[in-house]
Amino acid sequence: MSTSTGSAAAAGQKADCLFCRIARGEIASRKIYEDDDIVAFHDINPAAPVHFLIVPRVHVENLYDADLKYQALLGRMLGVAGQLAREQGANDGFRLVINNGRVGRQEVYHLHAHVLGGPSPLGSGFNRL
Ligand code: AMP
Ligand code: ZN
Repeated sequence: MSTSTGSAAAAGQKADCLFCRIARGEIASRKIYEDDDIVAFHDINPAAPVHFLIVPRVHVENLYDADLKYQALLGRMLGVAGQLAREQGANDGFRLVINNGRVGRQEVYHLHAHVLGGPSPLGSGFNRL
């Protein structure tokens, strides 16, 4: 095991995970918020005028792995959503989506909450995010 793999693991992160790498600053992103526990950045392929992701720094695959031990972290992810949505211009409502696993069409297996909004109401369907 290399040193970087070891230190990533020690920090609860996975060396080769895309969102772990974004959280560590190894891959560029358009960050809008960060603290000791979470980061938020614009989705690279936005599905709405406002579309950003709220991501824990620790590597948790999805809500199947986020048991009650992660209660505070999950609360923190939701707790910043409203203020960040407002700051990004979604001040008249937004949608928060967490895709889990194959059936949930999760693409990146590091837990993240999508925040979607904009000036107009979003589509009513659940097919796209
Ligand atoms: P999900 O289906 O919930 O796993 O969605 C993963 C999301 O991550 C998609 O909306 C992608 O557009 C987004 N994404 C993938 N790579 C990046 C990246 N490098 N920076 C920002 N967003 C990304
Ligand atoms: Zn990760």
